[in-house]
Amino acid sequence: MDALVLEKKLDLSLRDFPIEREEEKLGPRDVRIKLHTVGICGSDVHYYTHGKIGPFVVREPMILGHEASGTVIEVGSEVSALKEGDRVCMEPGIPDPNSRATRLGKYNVDPAVRFWATPPVHGILRPTCVHPETFTFKLPDNVSFAEAAMVEPLAVGVHAATKARIKPGDIAVVLGAGPIGLVTALSALAGGCARVYVSDLAEKKLEIAESLSRAIIGVQAGRDDLAERVKRDTDGWGADILFEASGSPKAASTVFEPLAPGGCVVMIGGQSDPISYDTGAAMIREARVENIFRYAHVFPRCLAMLSSGAIDVQPLITRKFEFKDSVHAFEIAASAPPADVKMQIELPQ
Ligand SMILES: [Zn+2]
Repeated sequence: MDALVLEKKLDLSLRDFPIEREEEKLGPRDVRIKLHTVGICGSDVHYYTHGKIGPFVVREPMILGHEASGTVIEVGSEVSALKEGDRVCMEPGIPDPNSRATRLGKYNVDPAVRFWATPPVHGILRPTCVHPETFTFKLPDNVSFAEAAMVEPLAVGVHAATKARIKPGDIAVVLGAGPIGLVTALSALAGGCARVYVSDLAEKKLEIAESLSRAIIGVQAGRDDLAERVKRDTDGWGADILFEASGSPKAASTVFEPLAPGGCVVMIGGQSDPISYDTGAAMIREARVENIFRYAHVFPRCLAMLSSGAIDVQPLITRKFEFKDSVHAFEIAASAPPADVKMQIELPQ
């Protein structure tokens, strides 16, 4: 069974990989899934180009991919909520069900969590996988496999919006118009924000952001002063919420500038090194700062919003590849074409 394998940094191959033997056994509460669509994530690309992310280093060949949808083809003896033929999407992180973090409801920060395509755990750019029923979600009929494979990145935005505790009519700022910045902007609007300013250096990305909703305003970070713009539009008050989704140390150092007194900053973008930010500016605003790590408890909410139309992710899916072309797909993704948001790979059915 062929899989997309990251042999080592900058070395990908589509080849037979003996993972199915390890996974042949289906636990009583597991389901076997035939994969349909897998999104290419920035983290997959980063492992490809750098061979590591922070402390996670690719030391052995690893299958990439963690944003996935598919069809249930077999169920364990105690599975009750799913059946053969169900269309599903999967939450890629599996915590220890008995850990303290899981019992507290914070399973995403369980140190023992096993997350797809994070070494040494394999991803799912392969024909089938086995996954716990608990982290497998049935799709509403009107949600496509492509949209369902967007639930994983969308979950980050929805979790961030949840942490921000948005109130209807809030003004938000999102730093960074990459896929995560855009799903965060959509989540902020779905959460009740009146307006979302999205800031980025790339003109094309701002165009895409603005095309998603007339409540989204693009701000060109190299040319316009974001804090000034937000203050001008809010009678000098500032934004209620700022989401840092750029991962840029420079952008992250300025998070309090556009923020209103009593506002909230949510740090989303990963930073490879420690960064500094202005604690004095935070203090005079009594700013609340939240950090998120992936997400918890939001997949069903994401599916409900995709189904009702509260969130539309379809404009974010800009390119599709066949599985047999997946090495090429990663080469293109690594070149970061400015007009692309999310590229997806479709597996043969
Ligand atoms: Zn992802």
